[in-house]
Amino acid sequence: MLKVKMTTPIVEMDGDEMTRILWKMIKDELILPFVELNSEYYDLGLLSRNDTKDQITVDAANANRKYGVAVKCATITPNKQRMEEYPQLTEMWKSPNGTIRSILDGTVFRAPILIDSIKPVVRNWTKPITIARHAYGDIYRAVDFKTDEPGVATITFKGESGGEHSVTVQKVEGPAIWQGLHNKESSIRSFAHACFKYAVGTRQDLWFSTKDTIAKVYDGYFKTIFEEVFTEYEEEFGRLGIEYFYTLIDDAVARVIRSDGGYIWACKNYDGDVMSDMVSTAFGSLAMMTSVLVSPDGKYEYEAAHGTVTRHYYKYLKGEETSTNPVATIFAWSGGLRKRGELDGLGDLVKFGDALEKATLDTLNGGVMTKDLVGLAEPGVPARAVSSKDFIAAIRTRLQEIIA
Ligand code: NAP
Ligand code: MG
Repeated sequence: MLKVKMTTPIVEMDGDEMTRILWKMIKDELILPFVELNSEYYDLGLLSRNDTKDQITVDAANANRKYGVAVKCATITPNKQRMEEYPQLTEMWKSPNGTIRSILDGTVFRAPILIDSIKPVVRNWTKPITIARHAYGDIYRAVDFKTDEPGVATITFKGESGGEHSVTVQKVEGPAIWQGLHNKESSIRSFAHACFKYAVGTRQDLWFSTKDTIAKVYDGYFKTIFEEVFTEYEEEFGRLGIEYFYTLIDDAVARVIRSDGGYIWACKNYDGDVMSDMVSTAFGSLAMMTSVLVSPDGKYEYEAAHGTVTRHYYKYLKGEETSTNPVATIFAWSGGLRKRGELDGLGDLVKFGDALEKATLDTLNGGVMTKDLVGLAEPGVPARAVSSKDFIAAIRTRLQEIIA
């Protein structure tokens, strides 16, 4: 069989634990036999990050900026417990995803993979709902504190030009709690561009919601910037027959539940944090959730939304065969290769991305799945749990049929 050719390298970011094991299986069984893989490889495994003082993460993110498309395996974000588990760590390295996100200034889009044999909890959701979460500011960069006596709090902004702006927050008669938060015009604008670009790229409507009736200036600013940025995309939206729609967050929640899906829901940082867990759980499983980071200038990083599946990895180390779900990681590869194909005008690479996804979905719909999904399958579906290895082998067989 002739292998699919590539021109520009795809940036490959390897990771940790069980997903690192799956990564190699996916490459060996589902990519390398079919594609003449042109990748620039970065090992973002924890020990490699430690050995390079995390320079490897920065290099990988810069390569993503240079080439435009990356696929990333899940990685460990070290915490205290990991420092004990890996005594050789010289520092509690920062989250690689955080580092990459700040270098790319990107927005994260999360979308579920739907299959016929698993129905969402919300019965009318027949198409995926993609959550676009703003990843900067608000309560995630807030300061807060507590006071114990009567008094007054003010917020003061001191401009570099010498000007000052002060407002009274509240006068209180007793103990109180306080919070100061902010966002930046540049970040909101990038968020808006990423959302409109993604809507165009995937031909889906874009919904955006805030609480601007209450936070008139703060959330009102988000709404205004989105309206402004939309003027740059309005024509293209019209041509594609897609819509931009703004509504209040509480109205959006009600509409989302009644909808049949098939759109992007852009959310402020906190709303996106909460709503993405709600939406992904209602769709079925974290292991079936894809994630793509999109920068405002159109760079893409594809990954699974789940972590390194530590519990399964320790079973694997004991020699047990695990039934870890590789679907979201396979879709990271298919999404990345398809995007590379689109950008480089390589029709065969685009077709390969589609075929890999079809082979995966066909396998699942045939009832061959990993353990986590069997319990979710509709009654009557002849679902059987197989190991990751056998599941990937079944996908390979199906992929060969599709390509032939
Ligand atoms: P996790 O790796 O997502 O796993 C949590 C649990 O969810 C697993 O124990 C498993 O449940 C289930 N699960 C998740 N993905 C699955 C899959 N593909 N197949 C089958 N079951 C799956 O989250 P975590 O245990 O909280 O985090 C582990 C490590 O991942 C941490 O070090 C964290 O820093 C890292 N992490 C990385 C990323 C990223 O790189 N994007 C994201 C999140 C977390 P059962 O054990 O019940 O089978
Ligand atoms: Mg969360």
